Amino acid sequence: MNYLELLKKVESYKNQYKIRVIGKTKFKRKIFAVERNLNKNFATAIFVCSIHARENIATDLVCKMIDDGVFEEIKDFNLSFVLMANPDGVELVENGISSVPEKHQKNLLKMNQNSQDFRLWKANANGVDLNNNFDARFGTNVNSKIPSSSGFVGKCAESENETKAIVRYLKNTNPFIVICYHTKGEEIYFNFFQSEKELERDKIIVEKFAKSTGYKIKNPEMTSSGGLKDYVIEKLKIPSLTIELGSDELSHPIKKDSLNEIFSRNKLIAKDLKFAYNVFVRFKEK
Ligand SMILES: [Zn+2]
Repeated sequence: MNYLELLKKVESYKNQYKIRVIGKTKFKRKIFAVERNLNKNFATAIFVCSIHARENIATDLVCKMIDDGVFEEIKDFNLSFVLMANPDGVELVENGISSVPEKHQKNLLKMNQNSQDFRLWKANANGVDLNNNFDARFGTNVNSKIPSSSGFVGKCAESENETKAIVRYLKNTNPFIVICYHTKGEEIYFNFFQSEKELERDKIIVEKFAKSTGYKIKNPEMTSSGGLKDYVIEKLKIPSLTIELGSDELSHPIKKDSLNEIFSRNKLIAKDLKFAYNVFVRFKEK
């Protein structure tokens, strides 16, 4: 969905959920967290969607999960949904250069090789790939040296409003897991320099998610850095999964007609989270 649709969704949630604005983008769009707080002493499962602009089907997926009541069975922890972490980028994908204030248009077109087609755009409005901008071995894996559609890590770690907002939010919340929804390929990433004990814990958790989704666990050589999952694992020492939604045969951005299929693969999310919570608690007591 686009940003306008997100605003309507968030409005529709305000009676049932706490709506928090955790930050604002360069073009003054809001980054929302929709919270289901059962108890202030509970830990929280946090979802982060659409940090990569063209991967915004994840926003639709989590809204569908909320709307279909899949989280209702959860009673032991809080939930928070950062539904669209990169709204400036999503608007570029959905509505092109006209979504950009006039004085910035020339610069953004330049970052996009002067193409008007922004459908494959991943970055934010500064041409920074937000999922390389976190403080987790920042800059060790540079794919672009200049602001562009993807792979530019930024001038320094957490240089961007969006990354700052997420980090601040994580520090003020009490997360026990962070689920990062991306597209595509039906794969799950879960490791980033964990301790032996943390790795044992996180393996048990990722295997559960893999089993219920049918997605493949990826255990790559350490090619990622500066990602949100990387930051959560390394700095907060809690589990975090990057879940790549959607078959590899689909093209970016994934259209809404694939939403039901993606949803059906992920509809056991509440059970997976409950399992993850129990594993997390068990290892904390170990
Ligand atoms: Zn992504």
